[in-house]
Amino acid sequence: MNIHEYQAKQLLSQYGVAVPPGEVCSTPEEAIWVAHKFLIGGAKELVIKAQTHAGGRGKGTFKNGFKGGVRLCQTAEQVYEVAKAMLGQVLVTQQTGPQGRLVSKVLVAVSSDIKKEFYLAVLLDRSTSWPLMMVSTEGGVDIEEVAARSPEKIVRELIDPAVGMMPYQARKVAAALGLKGDLFNPAVKLLLGAYKTWWECDATLVEINPLALVIDNDGKEIVRAVDAKISIDDNSLYRHPEIQAMRDLAEEQALEIEASKYNLNYIKLDGNIACLVNGAGLAMATMDIIKSFGGEPANFLDVGGGASQEQVSAAFKIILSDPNVRGILVNIFGGIMQCDVIAAGIAAAVKETELDLPLVVRLEGNNVEVGRRILKESGLPIISGDTMSDAAQKIVKAVTGTSEKSA
Ligand code: GDP
Ligand code: MN
Repeated sequence: MNIHEYQAKQLLSQYGVAVPPGEVCSTPEEAIWVAHKFLIGGAKELVIKAQTHAGGRGKGTFKNGFKGGVRLCQTAEQVYEVAKAMLGQVLVTQQTGPQGRLVSKVLVAVSSDIKKEFYLAVLLDRSTSWPLMMVSTEGGVDIEEVAARSPEKIVRELIDPAVGMMPYQARKVAAALGLKGDLFNPAVKLLLGAYKTWWECDATLVEINPLALVIDNDGKEIVRAVDAKISIDDNSLYRHPEIQAMRDLAEEQALEIEASKYNLNYIKLDGNIACLVNGAGLAMATMDIIKSFGGEPANFLDVGGGASQEQVSAAFKIILSDPNVRGILVNIFGGIMQCDVIAAGIAAAVKETELDLPLVVRLEGNNVEVGRRILKESGLPIISGDTMSDAAQKIVKAVTGTSEKSA
């Protein structure tokens, strides 16, 4: 699950990461009120930031022509006008796709007088299975770009999860960023705080881009998180009700929300062959084999190890509400699950949804004979696949007219 920048900054500041003072607003009236408050408090400049999960807002454009999802303002009246131009409008950035994202909240914050921008991220290093802190002196730009152009500018520090990030490691990273003198200890505190946020919140990613060297109102240099992005591991949400409450359904695909109600793992893709599979690994393999025979999967769908008839029926409705779908491949291995239960679920779902698309079913495992008989005796036009590759070829052929193994 992703959260908004203003929410990420709330979490980070709870763990000692310095962030600019700011408040989230849903109306221009709120925004002007917050602006007055900061200006009276001595702020010289304010920044208004459209809140969408997609990044690249600074360089984005609203569909109404207004330029930039991150704008600097000197007066409260300007803040009002900018908030009015952003709220209720659709922002298109490199990460949103052409359809863009509706902005319904803006963050009004004290602007940072930025002297230098850095990149900081905490994530899981999959090759060592250890947390990894990644920093770069090239901040504010895409890290993928830095990785491609000047990989030597990315510094990596692996963290032993049993002991957490050690102060010496934070000192090493701060030094690598060239943060010295009065900046050194605050930087160490910030780095340790970023790691702690990642760990305590069960995040999959904490990204601060830019982390900035800022001149504050008194002319003093400080380091703080000017932007923040946090993704949380969905499987951990049950133990973080306060983070779960940060979920913004407007940012998610409608079909994925519906799927999560039934505990189905569904991810929409661009192809036209829907798949319904039990187990994530088998679902991946099923997508691969569809592609291998020249088809394009319309989705990833894992109904779980022990799906009920209700879940199977919900799964059918979800894959069928994708207008691109031209055929369905069901691939079930009855390990925990009984094939006859699944077969009954499929037959019921086909009747209920009055399915008129080609449906290929491959069943294997517990009670497979009973399962196959149920499908056969249902009188429904279900095509049976004997093996995975037989089933994949049959559905690709039914949808595209041909099936050809590409590799
Ligand atoms: P993103 O484009 O969605 O990643 O949004 P960011 O918050 O990272 O903003 C984009 C860029 O705008 C940053 O890299 C900064 O250069 C600039 N920016 C963001 N906030 C401020 C601010 O408070 N003051 C100034 N001067 N520039 C800012
Ligand atoms: Mn950014």
